[in-house]
Amino acid sequence: MYQGSCLCGAITLEVHGAIDAIIHCHCSKCRKSSGTAYATNGFVNTADVQLKTGQALLAGYEASPGKVRHFCRVCASPIYSSNTQTPNKLRIRLGILDTDIVERPISHNFVSSKANWDELDADLPHYNGHEPSRHGKL
Ligand SMILES: [Zn+2]
Ligand SMILES: [Zn+2]
Repeated sequence: MYQGSCLCGAITLEVHGAIDAIIHCHCSKCRKSSGTAYATNGFVNTADVQLKTGQALLAGYEASPGKVRHFCRVCASPIYSSNTQTPNKLRIRLGILDTDIVERPISHNFVSSKANWDELDADLPHYNGHEPSRHGKL
């Protein structure tokens, strides 16, 4: 079980399951949403996520049709995103986790959108879109 919280601590959650397909996303939406070079995101089962506190403070922004980026309305921490196409999955923002995890990132994605001051981690594969293993997984 993993625990996470937003910057102000109002929203706390638990993840009772594995985190899959962790990637560093360099797309412009993730850069703007996170305010930095990239966002590190992974899939969790919606049923595995338990909001412990702060549910009323969880706001959402529909950045593209059906895809909502959920964040804390007090401190603006990104928490996870949801997709109406895949209601059984959430894409959690790994930076909110307070506990160590056993899973590791598998790639850098959407590198064609990366900031030109961003030096990529040379050890991981780089893709112009999603990692190829994403297809057929959801
Ligand atoms: Zn907060
Ligand atoms: Zn992205």
